[in-house]
Amino acid sequence: MNFDKSGNRICFDRNASKDYIQESLDICFKVAHILKEEFPNEIMKINDDTILMYDKKDRRIKKKSANRLYAYYTNATPHRIILTKKTLSERLVASTDHDVKWEHDIWDQSSRYTLEGNHALLELMAHELAHHQTSGHKAGWKIKYKRFYRFMINQMISGKFYKASTEAGGESV
Ligand SMILES: [Zn+2]
Repeated sequence: MNFDKSGNRICFDRNASKDYIQESLDICFKVAHILKEEFPNEIMKINDDTILMYDKKDRRIKKKSANRLYAYYTNATPHRIILTKKTLSERLVASTDHDVKWEHDIWDQSSRYTLEGNHALLELMAHELAHHQTSGHKAGWKIKYKRFYRFMINQMISGKFYKASTEAGGESV
């Protein structure tokens, strides 16, 4: 999260530093590596270009627009997770996990709450990674999402997330 000189939070800063965006990407990689280690058969292989920032000009990215999206999983191989610059700059995400009984449509904005900071990226990665080998936001995806998200929450609460030294993040995220 960014703050101005008076300590007020700056929401989406289009000029968020490259370092900050890179740190966001590092956190996403770290989450992916931790989940891959715990659930090796449920997640695609994580390569250096598996998680990318959306850029229309990037030839690896075929989607023409990512407006209004936080991130998306590519069904085509190689499977990737693409996050928008806005998401990486803000680290603000409306949670999918708003309703334990899943009584609402998951996109019902009225029942979603906002997550901030590292936790927002963590939840988003659990959501996107759960799309691997599942269909839409149906039962299989829900089970996987909850499994991944719960595991990562416990990593956070226990402090293991910050101690873990992975290829992606080391001690700094
Ligand atoms: Zn989704």
